[in-house]
Amino acid sequence: MGAMLFDNVNVFDGRSEELLEGVSVLVRGNRIERIGRDVRPQAGTEVLHGEGRTLMPGLIDCHVHVCLGAEADPLAMVREPKGMVVIKAVNFLNRYVDAGFTSLRDMGGVEYFDVALKLAVSRGMIRGPRLFVSGKMISETGGHGDFYTPWGVSMDAGFSRIADGVWEVVKAVREQIRAGADWIKICTTGGVLSPADDPRHSQFSVEEIEAIVREAATKGRRVASHAQGLEGVRNAVRGGVASVEHGIFLDDEVIEEMKERGVYLVPTLSAPDAIIKHGTAGGIPDYGVRKAREVMEVHRKSFRRAYEAGVRIAMGTDAGTPFNFHGSNARELSLMVESGMKPVDALRAATSTAAELLGIADRTGTVEEGKLADLILVDGDPIRDVGILSDPSNVLLVMKEGEVLKNTLGAGD
Ligand SMILES: [Zn+2]
Repeated sequence: MGAMLFDNVNVFDGRSEELLEGVSVLVRGNRIERIGRDVRPQAGTEVLHGEGRTLMPGLIDCHVHVCLGAEADPLAMVREPKGMVVIKAVNFLNRYVDAGFTSLRDMGGVEYFDVALKLAVSRGMIRGPRLFVSGKMISETGGHGDFYTPWGVSMDAGFSRIADGVWEVVKAVREQIRAGADWIKICTTGGVLSPADDPRHSQFSVEEIEAIVREAATKGRRVASHAQGLEGVRNAVRGGVASVEHGIFLDDEVIEEMKERGVYLVPTLSAPDAIIKHGTAGGIPDYGVRKAREVMEVHRKSFRRAYEAGVRIAMGTDAGTPFNFHGSNARELSLMVESGMKPVDALRAATSTAAELLGIADRTGTVEEGKLADLILVDGDPIRDVGILSDPSNVLLVMKEGEVLKNTLGAGD
């Protein structure tokens, strides 16, 4: 088994308030073997001189769409050959690696290409972060995932499974699991980028949500809900979802319930932020820009309230939505900090807490002896300035399960 020693690094372990300064970290095979000040290389160990740079866990984004290209118009993809979705996604996965991401949870693929991409990464056929996928998102008729026009003409790009009523939503869950989904993604409110609905209106009844959660649980899967308006968030929480995605309109009562039930919030502040910055001038449909403007302030306030109340927050971006580019995801950390989060908590949200939500905290998300070597070497101190992570050129080395996927430092000695 090959061994590599990161000599003289400052470690952010994914949890602690402070960096562990001037240590060495030995990786053997796919695991972190030792961390300490007295770790010496044996013959044959490659030594990388960290020179006081920061070694930290590989970043984790809990809400991306690798099958979406961040184009201004989310339906632009239907004007290209379907296979372009996959070819673009392979490029996006490369960008994720270059930006320091070693795990991603995809929250809605296209035609199950997300499942194929996951397989290709896990078999070593393409370069990319470890993927957790959800297949098609499940939506009610006329809901956030329904891309039929009022005339009933389909604009569906294979992005969602429309289902109504307890038995049909159960079937929809079974279909996603048959196709290879690790997670079930549902929509319990309208959204910003769907033309015909309102983010404040709820979708699916509590009975439907409970049925989805129960069916998923029998197959060891958990459920994430696109939930923006208060009632739809409450329904999702009471229905038993593991994570609330976006969570734009929250009140103290639902925040308490999220805490009690251990429901994670994945805020995705990047999505409305990118839409507002580029606007209709960038070609985003006007309904999307209008709705994003309406929600941004209240979104930040809800995020801050949930954070201060102690809701577990995992980092997610909704990358793939308009101008929300794959590889620029760490921008979310800056947005969370601007909205009131302590920098170290933003870093935890993108490492240890994200790993807890994904159910992989026993293997990764922290720099600890015995954990998988998902590590990045960063120029600068991210606790002092999380903004440095937004620039992939500050991510000098990326290792996933002991394998070096990016290295701008050159070979060690
Ligand atoms: Zn999304």
